[in-house]
Amino acid sequence: MKPKKKMSLTIKILLGLLLGVAFGIVSNMFFEKAINESIIKWVLDPAGNVFLRGIKMLVVPLVLCSLICGTASVGDIKKLGRLGVRTMVYYTATTAFAISIAIMLANIIKPGLGGEQLLSTAKSFKTADAPFIMDVFVNMVPTNPIESLVKGEMLQIITFAILFGIAATMIGKAAQPMLDIISQINEVLLKIIGIVMLFAPVGVFALISKVIMIQGSDVLIKLFKYGITIVLVLLIQLIVVYGSALKFIGRVSPIMFFRKFWPVMVVAFSTSSSNATIPINLETCEKKLGVKEAIASFTIPLGATINMDGTAIMQGVATVFIAQVYGIPLTINQMLMVVLTATLASVGTAGVPGVGLITLSMVLQQVGLPVEGISLVLGIDRILDMMRTVVNVSGDATATVIMANLEKELDLDVYNQKYICEEKCVLDAE
Ligand code: ASP
Repeated sequence: MKPKKKMSLTIKILLGLLLGVAFGIVSNMFFEKAINESIIKWVLDPAGNVFLRGIKMLVVPLVLCSLICGTASVGDIKKLGRLGVRTMVYYTATTAFAISIAIMLANIIKPGLGGEQLLSTAKSFKTADAPFIMDVFVNMVPTNPIESLVKGEMLQIITFAILFGIAATMIGKAAQPMLDIISQINEVLLKIIGIVMLFAPVGVFALISKVIMIQGSDVLIKLFKYGITIVLVLLIQLIVVYGSALKFIGRVSPIMFFRKFWPVMVVAFSTSSSNATIPINLETCEKKLGVKEAIASFTIPLGATINMDGTAIMQGVATVFIAQVYGIPLTINQMLMVVLTATLASVGTAGVPGVGLITLSMVLQQVGLPVEGISLVLGIDRILDMMRTVVNVSGDATATVIMANLEKELDLDVYNQKYICEEKCVLDAE
């Protein structure tokens, strides 16, 4: 029942996108300017803004709760040990690597160049000076976490949440009731995302048709280039980066991995949710790929919470794209800042549909780009979300296999065994 429901929302959102494009083109071609302006003022702007505000509303509470839960999900502090450090280093390194490729390719392809006409109300925008990189590290430590929450200082909130999660883990049992409450709040917030996403078809329709109505179908070509850039980097990350990591760090066959892992990718694609994919990901890692439960039960849920390489790729490309459209050149310092904040943003991105776009605002804010730029890429984000979620969950699983082999917790016989479906096989029976 549930997947069907999600599927139908996905279709509705795609329909919203297509209808929005069609409506935008028709209005642009046939309606008078005054009529279009009224439609925008009375219908499209309110609808689009309600959706945008709805997703923005969740940034602070969601990042705080999901990060505390993610950090605390490590459980016993001793368990953190070598596995914890290795996994965190691997997750962070692959994410930073992913976003670096994304920024590089976006700078080569230049998907937003000459896209100034995308800016509907070309408001003058003052570029904020990129902060000195060392100040960024220093400012990550909040002096007053409540103030950070109120002001939406994301880096400070993330630092506080990680410390909070680690401290709660150290306290152990006594902190458990509090962690249970935070985890329940987290679930409620995820539910709210689900509710807000119900409005996504209308929101997407309003936002995309407004852009096209004003600018004509040219925007699609610009967005197409943006989409293609992301897809290209996602493929590089999936095939080249994960393939090499499996081969050279994990010393296992990448082909065998993808052969057994593709059903998980299909689930990730259709649900757009790392969280929803956790059960099938765990099952595949343990039953088909031969990873011991002790490893997979730690790395998969943790990865679904904090490791989002696909999301980081989108944020890297989106940042460069928005900067190009607004005609604001990014300095090397700012690009380094994008690598840092998008890596941290991916940690704070919950594994549910559409959150990557929310945390993108944090990256844009940190480099001094207009947050409204998000509306430029919102139109095709749903489709890209499906694709990046595939990369997100694949990153978690490759890390799981690699960590398991490094810890000698990988059954290579099972891994290399050509998979033959048995009665018990839930994946293929579905
Ligand atoms: N949908 C993504 C996931 O669940 C998160 C995002 O980028 O929005 O992995």
